[in-house]
Amino acid sequence: MTTSELVISGLRASVGSTEILKGIDLTIRSGEVHAIMGPNGSGKSTLSHVVMGKPGYEVTAGSVTLNGVEILGLPTWQRAQAGLFLAMQYPTEVPGVSLSDVLSVAYQAGERSADELDDVLKAEAERIGFDHDLLRRSLNVDMSGGEKKRNETLQLGVLKPKIAILDELDSGLDVDALRQVSRRVEAATEEDGLGVLVITHYSRLLNELRADRIHVLAQGRIVDSGGPEMAEALESSGYAAYGGDAEAVPAAAADPFADPFA
Ligand code: ADP
Ligand code: MG
Repeated sequence: MTTSELVISGLRASVGSTEILKGIDLTIRSGEVHAIMGPNGSGKSTLSHVVMGKPGYEVTAGSVTLNGVEILGLPTWQRAQAGLFLAMQYPTEVPGVSLSDVLSVAYQAGERSADELDDVLKAEAERIGFDHDLLRRSLNVDMSGGEKKRNETLQLGVLKPKIAILDELDSGLDVDALRQVSRRVEAATEEDGLGVLVITHYSRLLNELRADRIHVLAQGRIVDSGGPEMAEALESSGYAAYGGDAEAVPAAAADPFADPFA
């Protein structure tokens, strides 16, 4: 098993004229589980999008390297091929394209033979109690929140990335599903040396998926980091101590000359 390292340093990013990430430093290595917690609007999903290369964000400073290679200039598909994976908070619906279509293409792009894919899919579906019919239906279309999250977890199990970012994987999952999905992710950290950055509001996920480190993101900055015991404390005390409540990052002063498409 080769070890991997995702290093985020001094990362700043904006949407239009609003700076959302204000200097993020974070290192995730193989086998580690890091959790990011924080109030709504603090920039958690933005961080996941910027690392994965979702269009619409401007990186203004910093770097993100995977095993020493800068990935910020790469298109998303190359980041995925390099071993990065993002389970999105709101998985995209793709009418007419099934999960098995997607996985078949992605699997072979990783230079793996399509012959074994059926068996891999079956085994993975079983591990997380995934309804087989969902493999043939249009990706995420008319699926419940929980089905979408199992979908993402199945992709993770099949594609075996090096580093995975899981954005609110817990939303929409009942307790049993949460346990199954957490067990699967945890197994990947042990069997395949997966490094994980899990984003969540709730310690309920972290009761199932134990984090080695917890980081608090507030207003675009990591304002505190600690061990797993921090999750409980955060859940009871909230984020008030970090100057964050449920409010979004304050909008930057409007610039009448700003290009809205910049
Ligand atoms: P979190 O995931 O922590 O709840 P987000 O990263 O989704 O927060 O959002 C952080 C802030 O950035 C919010 O104030 C949100 O409104 C703003 N934001 C995110 N994406 C966009 C966008 N595409 N256009 C304008 N504002 C955005
Ligand atoms: Mg979010």
